[in-house]
Amino acid sequence: MSMPDPTCRVVIVGGGIAGLATAYELQERARADRTPLHVSLVEANRRPGGVIHTERADGFVIEGGPDSILAQKPWAVELCQRLGLGDQLVGTNPVQRKTYVLHRGRLCELPEGLTLMIPTRLKPLLQTGLLSPLGKVRAGLDLLQRPRRRACDDISLAAFVREHLGCEAFERIVEPLMAGIYAGDAEQLSLKATFPRLLELENQYGSLVRGLLAQREPKPTPLTSFPDREGGGAGGEARRWTGFVTLREGLGQLVEALVAHLDQIHLYTGQRVQAIRLQTPDGRRWPGYEVCLADGTILPAHAVILATPAYVSAELLAGLAPGLAETLDGISYVSTATVSLGYRRADVAHPLDGYGFVVPRVENRPLLACTWTSSKFPHRAPDNHVLLRCFLGRAGQEEILWLDDDELLRLVRTELEGILGLRARPVLIRIFRWQRAMPQYVVGHLERLAAIEAQLGQYPGLYLTGSAYHGVGLPDNIRAGAQTAEALLRDLATLSGHHTVNGVVWYLQGL
Ligand SMILES: Cc1cc2nc3c(=O)[nH]c(=O)nc-3n(C[C@H](O)[C@H](O)[C@H](O)COP(=O)(O)OP(=O)(O)OC[C@H]3O[C@@H](n4cnc5c(N)ncnc54)[C@H](O)[C@@H]3O)c2cc1C
Repeated sequence: MSMPDPTCRVVIVGGGIAGLATAYELQERARADRTPLHVSLVEANRRPGGVIHTERADGFVIEGGPDSILAQKPWAVELCQRLGLGDQLVGTNPVQRKTYVLHRGRLCELPEGLTLMIPTRLKPLLQTGLLSPLGKVRAGLDLLQRPRRRACDDISLAAFVREHLGCEAFERIVEPLMAGIYAGDAEQLSLKATFPRLLELENQYGSLVRGLLAQREPKPTPLTSFPDREGGGAGGEARRWTGFVTLREGLGQLVEALVAHLDQIHLYTGQRVQAIRLQTPDGRRWPGYEVCLADGTILPAHAVILATPAYVSAELLAGLAPGLAETLDGISYVSTATVSLGYRRADVAHPLDGYGFVVPRVENRPLLACTWTSSKFPHRAPDNHVLLRCFLGRAGQEEILWLDDDELLRLVRTELEGILGLRARPVLIRIFRWQRAMPQYVVGHLERLAAIEAQLGQYPGLYLTGSAYHGVGLPDNIRAGAQTAEALLRDLATLSGHHTVNGVVWYLQGL
């Protein structure tokens, strides 16, 4: 009597951090449970990693995309540790901690004591040159109790912050910091989808500042770039990181380690998926899909995980699930670019005594921000050199990316000359363009997610993960990948009625 093949075939589309993290989690759980899974991951580029792109040249470590990980969201740091990269984690430079804001063309220090972008310390707020005396008084009015909002109401980040802290604090402090994360327009971004904790503080305390002060954690351990000294060991497990961290040789190390660990995954790189089709339109409870690649290959799959940008997922699902595709296509994206410039230290008169500067939208400049990378993470430039990284492009200012490389470079150098007095020729130049790479969680985003979730319910075995949905940062996407893997295994168990034979979990009997 022939036994049905117990192997469940899973295809993950997209090898950015979300797709890779999903694959890793599926592999590790399947290995631990002895679950027969056949997992393929298809990535359109030859290089996996999506927007994570590290280049190493002449002693410089250059990040084209993300450069740091927020350690308070522990999932990225934990993954690094599980992959044996614990001893490669490094914190930001504890000596040069300042951040500047461009204010009327000049750099002005960001007041200390910001939590969730909100000023919580009186003295630095009173002393800052960023706000006028009236602006400071207006920000202080947040301390007064105000009526609570209905929990279901969504509101733009801009409207909410202006209501609490006034226009100046919003434009000069909150907006440029927020833009550094989303490259977005705060007038459009949803408070509930981007900073739900601010809404919780309002609900609980009536005031953001009072709420943040009440919930203040004990003083964090100071950051150090040398975790091994503190007993990090080979895996760095003992180290509890706070603030921002990175990997010594760049975040590309995380992608390299993930790919090296994916020994049970069939990795297709340089292969674009064109469409997802239904294999058996009716009959069985768990249908089956066909993943159609551009070269004509068809991968049959019991489950498909789309870890692609929402507009790509929409294209792939247009034939199979037009309603879902339309909802996905409504998630908008912004294009950005980073321009990294290396200089001889002797050629830069500015002390670069901080992590860099952000540029408020009201300054009306082409730059969004400039990280003084080698001050923030000192090992990023060779001795006697510095590395700067400029960000361009934000919601409403994307036409700047139409400039060719020479024009973009000229523009950036003119900006750096005006702001830092930097006229020298860079010894290293790298330009990275990111077309539609930053999803925008606009007002109503959570309702859109609920609609997507409801529509997905009609397609068992189909999953969506990645930065379009529940968080744009690397830690969020790593967690999303793990949760997607978990949901898939749970659904398999429920839908196909698994049982165990000789210690092996058989999921697909009877499918
Ligand atoms: C410039 C920049 C700076 C950032 N800085 C930070 C930072 O410092 N810290 C932080 O935490 N976050 C940062 N982020 C955000 C974070 O990097 C991203 O949100 C996250 O990496 C997105 O991962 P993802 O896997 O969802 O998507 P992506 O990285 O976009 O991956 C999607 C993958 O799908 C592939 N794909 C697309 N279409 C197809 C197809 N048809 N077939 C097969 N494959 C396909 C793509 O090639 C890509 O590899 C930054 C983002 C950008 C753009």
